[in-house]
Amino acid sequence: FMIAATRIYGPLIGCLNNLSAVFSTMLRVERMREIEEQKVQTGVEDTHYEGYDITFDHVGFSYHKGEPVLRDVSFRAAQGQVTALVGPSGGGKSTAARLAARFWDLDQGRITIGGADVSTVDPESLLKNFSVVFQDVVLFNSSIMENIRIGRKDATDQEVMAAAEAARCSDFINRLPNGYHTKIGENGSVLSGGERQRLSIARALLKDAPIILLDEATASLDVENESMVQGAISNLVRNKTVLIIAHRMRTVAKADRIVVLKDGLVAEQGSPRELYESNGIYRHMVDLQTQSQKWTLS
Ligand code: ADP
Ligand code: MG
Repeated sequence: FMIAATRIYGPLIGCLNNLSAVFSTMLRVERMREIEEQKVQTGVEDTHYEGYDITFDHVGFSYHKGEPVLRDVSFRAAQGQVTALVGPSGGGKSTAARLAARFWDLDQGRITIGGADVSTVDPESLLKNFSVVFQDVVLFNSSIMENIRIGRKDATDQEVMAAAEAARCSDFINRLPNGYHTKIGENGSVLSGGERQRLSIARALLKDAPIILLDEATASLDVENESMVQGAISNLVRNKTVLIIAHRMRTVAKADRIVVLKDGLVAEQGSPRELYESNGIYRHMVDLQTQSQKWTLS
């Protein structure tokens, strides 16, 4: 029902300028909860996917009529590769990533997964193919064990613990007073940002979906946390289609392909090396971050 509500009210609330931000946040949280809780109805006819490449084909999208957020966006995120979306804030990265999971329908163009047009795929069944690791991780005030198990309800304790291990969570879990049975508080308030993120990676590992959507944290993680998160991510992404919204140039440089979104347009795309050598926006972003890192170190 909530998915249907999101679909019906999604466009409608676009008209209510003041309230739309609040509503859409609520709906988005609800939607993520569905994805993470795998509220997936069985018995829905399954689409056949030829692999899990994602293609954006001349995609146009707006939240409010006449204010396009994505314009003529075309790119391919190949299975087995990491595709990084980068660019200035407000450029449309998060919107693009969410459109791949059919959060909203398009104004123009199409998005396909393994050749299947997502606008023709039942939303609930589509979600089985996605693991999401977003910044606004949805955590529940229950135990660590239960929070990870959301990834796959029938997972055994052993499977949950293996996922936590692979996501580099076991250190901090073992430090908690009741280990895996520690309640993590409203929105995971007993955990740090990096720990929350690793916990959501553990959840995604457990789900083992073919497509990973990852919205990298903007808030600076400390160096130890950052390398832990990177390690956890590298375990997560093997053989998957990975679409990552990357803020740290270290992550971006390791991607197979980079798509620079600026003002809703694809400004540049290519391999990290190609883009670096072409001396455009990507190069500028790399140089800026390298510079600011030097300053913070000195
Ligand atoms: P990025 O992730 O690159 O920072 P976003 O996709 O979040 O960009 O945002 C692109 C544009 O769409 C921005 O102008 C933003 O204000 C707007 N926007 C994002 N989400 C919503 C929403 N739920 N409702 C209305 N406008 C939105
Ligand atoms: Mg964003």
